[in-house]
Amino acid sequence: MRFALIDNNRVEAQPKQQGLCPICSQPVIAKCGNKKVWHWAHRGIISCDSWWEPETEWHRNWKNNYPTEWQEIVLFDEQTGEKHIADVQTIHNLVMEFQHSAMKPEERISREKFYKNMLWVVDGTRLQRDYPRFHKGMENFRRTNQQGVYFVDFPDEVFPKSWLNSTVPVIFDFCGLSTSEQNEIKNTLWCLLPQKDVTRAVVVGLRKNDFVQITHNRGQLFIENDKSQQKPIHPKQQIILQPKRIMRREPLIDWIQRKQASGKWKPRRKKW
Ligand SMILES: [Zn+2]
Repeated sequence: MRFALIDNNRVEAQPKQQGLCPICSQPVIAKCGNKKVWHWAHRGIISCDSWWEPETEWHRNWKNNYPTEWQEIVLFDEQTGEKHIADVQTIHNLVMEFQHSAMKPEERISREKFYKNMLWVVDGTRLQRDYPRFHKGMENFRRTNQQGVYFVDFPDEVFPKSWLNSTVPVIFDFCGLSTSEQNEIKNTLWCLLPQKDVTRAVVVGLRKNDFVQITHNRGQLFIENDKSQQKPIHPKQQIILQPKRIMRREPLIDWIQRKQASGKWKPRRKKW
């Protein structure tokens, strides 16, 4: 994990430090080597959270799209007493899990039940076959009347089977750690929406920046249009995408100061 508690503060691992696990309150030690990202680990090999997977740079990069206060949030189910760490929980109560390793269907189901309002971001670069299969499958994507939204027949030929029955959006990141990727398809995040009909999926392509912006701003990635109830034929066509950014306008005075500091702007002087 990235954060442990020292004097009740969330602290990142530094060499030779010791902290407490935010879940089980047992001591954890800082692992600060060259191979793995710096992290905290329990003294034993096993983490107290059975859902925890060793973090990679890919995980950290994704988490870093969000404020540290949203990262590694301990969630507690009062009824069952279960506790787990969500990779990210936004202030809009959206949980995001960044999944690199393979996962059994039973675990996926339990995690979706536990976190409820969540989505998965899946590392599409871990298995070599995943991207070529997706790329080939794209030939059969059918456009809808909304930009970036496609119907996919036989999604099992396009996506890893383990994700097809998810009850929440699954976002495939085929870009991985590569930052200089020129490939538009890889640069796009491909979002598989929860399916009721196994023979046809709805897939949405989103730019990463838009995805990050939307998940900052609201608790659902996609908002369904109420009118969908009235059109029983293709209700999924009615899904409305609102990738509009909520731009916070910079106060004028800040803008002027910023421009002045950069030397690109000088106040106009009156000519006498
Ligand atoms: Zn623990």
